Formats: sequence, C-alpha cells, structure tokens
Amino acid sequence: MDLLELLRFQARRYRCSACGENMADCGINVLAQQGNRALVRVTCAACNDENLLQIIFQTEAAEEQRPLIDEGMPEMGTPISTDELLDLHAVLAGHDGPLTELFAPR
Ligand SMILES: [Zn+2]
Repeated sequence: MDLLELLRFQARRYRCSACGENMADCGINVLAQQGNRALVRVTCAACNDENLLQIIFQTEAAEEQRPLIDEGMPEMGTPISTDELLDLHAVLAGHDGPLTELFAPR
C-alpha cells in the first residue's frame, strides 16, 4: 500500500467539514513528501472544499532509519494553519505494524 492508497483508505473515516459528505471519494494530491512528513491536498468531491493537510508520521523507528530522502526535496514555503493539521498518526492508531513499512524504499 503506498501513501496515496493509505490516505484514500483513511479518508473514508472522515466527513467533509464544509458539507458533511463522506470523504471516500475526495480528491487526494500528495504535494510533497519529505522524510516522515507529507503535505497533502484533499478536495471534497461534493463541494470542492479544499484542505491542506500536513501529515507527520510519528514512528519509533524513525530515528533508526537512515536519512533516505532528506536531500533534494524543496522546502515547503506555504504555511499551514493549525486547524488544517491532521495527525495521521492518531488516525492510524489501529494500523498493524510500523508505518515506516509503508514508505521506506525497498
Ligand atoms: Zn464537502
């Protein structure tokens, strides 16, 4: 399961904050990914309400990983307000196994 599939899977648990529709069919764009962080734009399929989500994968293994993709990624210049933050870690509390399995290059 890659990041997009993971986000799609998790989106079903959410409703749009603007119109209340389930987010299962929402548009998901991964704008940037760096290390254990990702910037994702989610667009509601019903009302086109857009939200920027900064997702931080908090895993115990993060510190043990070699810095694999820390170089060559542009700095994100767009500030993200706190009410748009989604801590996917909490969402993924039921996930089996370390999240790094989902993102580490194989
Ligand atoms: Zn909506």
